[in-house]
Amino acid sequence: MTERLYLSDSMLSAFDATVLSCEPQGDGYLIELDRSAFFPNKGGQPCDVGTIGDAAVTDVNEHGERLLHRTDRAVAVGAAVHCELNFARRFDIMQQHTGEHLLSYCAWHLFGAQNVGFHCALTYATLDLDKPVGHEGITEIETLANRLAAENAAVTATIYETEEDLKGIPLRKHAEGLTAPIRIVTIEGSDACTCCAPHVRRTGEIGQLKIIEAIPYKGGTRCTFLCGMRALRHAQTMQDTVSAIALRFSTARDQAEAAVQKQSEDLSNAKRELRQAYAALDEYLAKALMQDAEDVNGCRLIVRVLEHVDAKRLRTLAGATMNGRALTVLFSDTGERVSYLLASNGIKPDTGLLIGAVNTALSGNGGGRGTLAQGSAKRPSDLPEIAEQLRGYFRNVLLHE
Ligand SMILES: [Zn+2]
Repeated sequence: MTERLYLSDSMLSAFDATVLSCEPQGDGYLIELDRSAFFPNKGGQPCDVGTIGDAAVTDVNEHGERLLHRTDRAVAVGAAVHCELNFARRFDIMQQHTGEHLLSYCAWHLFGAQNVGFHCALTYATLDLDKPVGHEGITEIETLANRLAAENAAVTATIYETEEDLKGIPLRKHAEGLTAPIRIVTIEGSDACTCCAPHVRRTGEIGQLKIIEAIPYKGGTRCTFLCGMRALRHAQTMQDTVSAIALRFSTARDQAEAAVQKQSEDLSNAKRELRQAYAALDEYLAKALMQDAEDVNGCRLIVRVLEHVDAKRLRTLAGATMNGRALTVLFSDTGERVSYLLASNGIKPDTGLLIGAVNTALSGNGGGRGTLAQGSAKRPSDLPEIAEQLRGYFRNVLLHE
């Protein structure tokens, strides 16, 4: 059994121990010590990493009662070893975890919302509340949490040996189903909660607490939050982002949102005007197509290459040529690609079959059925010549219909 040093001293970053066992596993080793300050993957948070002697500790897990440190090299059983934690990582995780207790207390205190889930990753942490609290509620929770953090209250862990001892403790979450001994982490003046993990010593050490996202989750709320340096880095990134947007709009940071809003409205107006302009242009184009049409065996045949006309406009243009027996084949040349559309009215051949000739001529992909088919291909350098050859082919089809 390993003495868990982190239970009584969360700030212990280095310690001496004796190696109880060292077993090879995969490309590393699993080491058990007589005492350890390494906290394992547990309680929703990642483990500590660091060193045992010269060996790097990359993972720590509980296997039943055993605490096993995964290392990159072996250490002799019975050896006395000096061990060190990556304490920057440990302290950062403690800031998030104590921050989670404080935010959870505030959600419970203000709205009666219970914490029903916690996950701490290396760049963000989430806590789940069992009810919706709304945007303003989130602001209230984080504001109260930051005020309580600034009061720099003591954070202590106490182990209660019997359930009887627990009776007078105002726990945020009921300890029903838990059997003593139970470890309670208390924030002086506010929170008391069962917890197995190491915590900072005073709430001031959490630094700033910031909820950066709150989304509906399983009927409640999932809050993503950052504490300490994570919150600072987030603020720096957000400031850089807003500054970049403001610079692009040549405006002050606090005017950036209004500038984006105005550009969005300008864009909507421009799109509407463009649609109107295209509609007018397409009326003329449709008339020009009709004038270019040739009569083949009592059927109007149109084959035409257009430039930069999107699929929707191609359909509209072709549709405008569909009175009487007709076959219209339109190509849209965008320089890199060519898209094409076949529309027919009152003729026997199915456009789904006729498009096969276009696919073959352009090495393209296209299909359809009945009176409409469309496809696209890489634009060949001799597109106009190919279109003329296809005109001859379709003329022939109509002649022998
Ligand atoms: Zn906890």
